[in-house]
Amino acid sequence: MGRFTLPRDLYHGKGSLEELKNLSGKKAIVVVGGGSMRRFGFLDKAVGYLKEAGMEVELFENVEPDPSVETVMKGAEKMREFEPDWIVSMGGGSPIDAAKAMWAFYEYPETTFEDLITPFNFPTLRTKAKFCAIPSTSGTATEVTAFSVITDYDKGIKYPLADFNITPDVAIVDPDLAETMPKKLTAHTGMDAMTHAIEAYVSTLHCDYTDPLALHAIKMIHRDLKASFDGDMEARDRMHNAQCLAGMAFSNALLGIVHSMAHKTGAAYSGGHIVHGCANAMYLPKVIKYNAQNEEAALRYAEIASFIGLQGEDTAGLVDALIAELKSMNASLEIPSCIKEYEGGIIDEKEFMDKLPEVAKLAISDACTGSNPRVPTPEEMEKLLKACFYDEEIDF
Ligand code: FE
Repeated sequence: MGRFTLPRDLYHGKGSLEELKNLSGKKAIVVVGGGSMRRFGFLDKAVGYLKEAGMEVELFENVEPDPSVETVMKGAEKMREFEPDWIVSMGGGSPIDAAKAMWAFYEYPETTFEDLITPFNFPTLRTKAKFCAIPSTSGTATEVTAFSVITDYDKGIKYPLADFNITPDVAIVDPDLAETMPKKLTAHTGMDAMTHAIEAYVSTLHCDYTDPLALHAIKMIHRDLKASFDGDMEARDRMHNAQCLAGMAFSNALLGIVHSMAHKTGAAYSGGHIVHGCANAMYLPKVIKYNAQNEEAALRYAEIASFIGLQGEDTAGLVDALIAELKSMNASLEIPSCIKEYEGGIIDEKEFMDKLPEVAKLAISDACTGSNPRVPTPEEMEKLLKACFYDEEIDF
């Protein structure tokens, strides 16, 4: 049996934020990040609309990037005091992810993170509140997904939470919010979305319901991301929809080892974090090459290549064309080709090599590995990661 779950309502298009006026409830808490939503006036607008809907409104502000367990607990406590029947979260992936976890602890104060990290094991939510998500970046698609990532900084662990209970009730995909994204964020989040769609399309859990979403998202991102990066706001608006379609696909088909590798290399090195979307963009061409050794995966990559108008003599030729196209997209978006080039070389080569066996092991055990079309051995994963460090061609 398969399951396909999305928010019950999705409002999209310019000005759709106004739909908040039509939510029915008594009290709403609005969860936001560090200040861009306030600065650009969207927070005031959202609060105004909720008040027009007759609701009492409280704010929970300053959710940090890569939100912590502490922030989640603070937010949940505020919710327990205020007792909202709507949780409205607005911003990049972080405030929305944090609000999803707050929701669980608001409804079930006695639960623990350890209880929640078992995938698809959440208690039944919506006994106290419903959830509305409003993204301001075009990448994570957390507004339509069953996922949230919370970081325990004491233990140095990222908790990936996964359950259809935390798929929002309402998503508002208003491109006005995404027009505020700086250039680099546009590139990184856009390639994150491209990775979501491609990994979902070749995932072992892909199905007839996820395939069209993934393919159409790939076509749109291929067409619009560069222009969006260059400041074309109509392309930026379309990218906001495209990333959401990619999210609908991967929330139900899951992902693959590009994400496993990005998760486990993201915060592993003392030189700095490797930003999620940028890591995906750098690793995706290598992983396609590796996965394409699996015949069925190769056929699916070739389908993607044909769908976006690339040429190739046969399946292998089409796969190569897809890899070349993604590399050229990266270059046009000023994304480096490998970890060695990342941010002027902040990741130390020796540290990378010292940690390689451990990081490879962790990447294999990542939740995203299970749905990848090939399950790598530790040796293969080390080779892949090394290829991503030096931009080496891999041949296996
Ligand atoms: Fe991602």
